[in-house]
Amino acid sequence: MGRIAIPPLNDATNGWSRILPTREPHPPLQQDIQVDWVVVGAGQAGLAAARRLAENRPGDSIALIEAGESGEGAQGRNAGFIIDTPHNIGSSLEELSSARSYISLARAAIQSLEEQVRKYDIRCDWDASGKLHAAVTPKGISQILEPTRKVLESLNEPYTWFEGRSLHERIGFKHFTAGIYTPGSILVNPAALSRGLADNMPANVTLYEHTPVTFAEFSPEIRLKTPQGTIRAGKAILAVSVFAEQFGLLRNRLIPISACGSLSRQLTEDEQGRLEGLRSWGLTPANAFVGVTVRRTRDQRILIRQDMRYQPELRRSSSSYGTVRAHHQDLLERWFPALKDLAIEHTWSGFICVSRNGGSGFGKVAPNVYSAVCDNGLGWTKGTISGLLIADKATGIDNPLIETYEALGHAAKLPPRPFLDIGIRARFAFELWRNRHEA
Ligand SMILES: Cc1cc2nc3c(=O)[nH]c(=O)nc-3n(C[C@H](O)[C@H](O)[C@H](O)COP(=O)(O)OP(=O)(O)OC[C@H]3O[C@@H](n4cnc5c(N)ncnc54)[C@H](O)[C@@H]3O)c2cc1C
Repeated sequence: MGRIAIPPLNDATNGWSRILPTREPHPPLQQDIQVDWVVVGAGQAGLAAARRLAENRPGDSIALIEAGESGEGAQGRNAGFIIDTPHNIGSSLEELSSARSYISLARAAIQSLEEQVRKYDIRCDWDASGKLHAAVTPKGISQILEPTRKVLESLNEPYTWFEGRSLHERIGFKHFTAGIYTPGSILVNPAALSRGLADNMPANVTLYEHTPVTFAEFSPEIRLKTPQGTIRAGKAILAVSVFAEQFGLLRNRLIPISACGSLSRQLTEDEQGRLEGLRSWGLTPANAFVGVTVRRTRDQRILIRQDMRYQPELRRSSSSYGTVRAHHQDLLERWFPALKDLAIEHTWSGFICVSRNGGSGFGKVAPNVYSAVCDNGLGWTKGTISGLLIADKATGIDNPLIETYEALGHAAKLPPRPFLDIGIRARFAFELWRNRHEA
């Protein structure tokens, strides 16, 4: 605990927010304050935690502190899938039980998000059209889709298997050969949803944007320094994702992965007519690291999510976007030849926090200090529910889902650096090579 050596740094490239009207951020903290609660990080976890704290303790003062703007961090840079059923999971009894737990947690998160979207009329292109989980090769089908189908059957979850023409008729292009459609996932513009949640906080939450915490002390009292003011708080919740180590938390347990997204320009009426398939859909690849996530968005753009990298320095230079964009443009041209003039308009990157064993950094980490980090790439469901549940835990609310979430496991310890870096890079290279046909 002490100085925060690496604060978040988001460039101005996020396509999801660039296509929205400009937004006036909440003013930064400009004085010293004393509050009952401080929540650091206005991503999915922090937004949910601040809201639930306010509901549980309507008389308490809550400061929500964000280094940048809500909607500009990973919470607004993702592919916009709010995913309710697990994929890439084995079918042992233990794995089935955690799949069942995941579904109950994910559905509680979706219900909470939907309530906010309706209550505050958040315009985020909320699209309850489900999603496809799709493979390119027979190996992808036998190793990922078939086991996923068995899991869904064991869980009694509805799904539809699409193959060949029946799949291509839904999505209008031919790269993938089979897919499992599940109806419960939601597709959104993630920046619009994050902004909407941040701008409709309960009255006892004050959001301070452009307020990076530069120094943190948790004992003997909670004291956080920011460029123009200090926060003293009775209790703290840290929802800072891959930046948790900067606060002295979860050292050697978190793996920061950067991933890139691109959005095309809007399809013209004529192009919309030429593109076969449904008017909006979302597809996740059988292999999330190697494969490509694709969407036809409700506002008629094509989204591509791809290019994952291990990035322990917590920075990804925008100079790498040129190559990524050229690759995404090439995918567009190959997959959608009927749209030959369709250009990529925006390319960006963001951070995903994963752990070796898929566990999270959820719980009490010091007297009066709690953390909700590391959703392993499922920010909308696991991030949101972890925020709601950490607020319940911190306020002593007896919620049975806390135990369900904790049973999914704690982020496991990693080998020390530089062995870690060598090991992860080698593993990444091997996975990319082994699954190259799913790209
Ligand atoms: C390209 C891409 C595609 C993805 N697709 C999906 C998807 O389709 N569906 C899905 O569910 N998830 C997806 N994810 C993952 C998802 O975005 C993350 O899992 C999620 O955003 C994590 O939520 P969080 O609240 O834990 O962290 P974040 O959203 O990263 O929020 C943490 C916040 O803490 C703030 N912070 C950190 N340090 C400080 C400090 N010192 N002072 C003040 N504030 C600080 C940061 O600025 C940040 O806003 C994707 C991610 C990427 C990058």
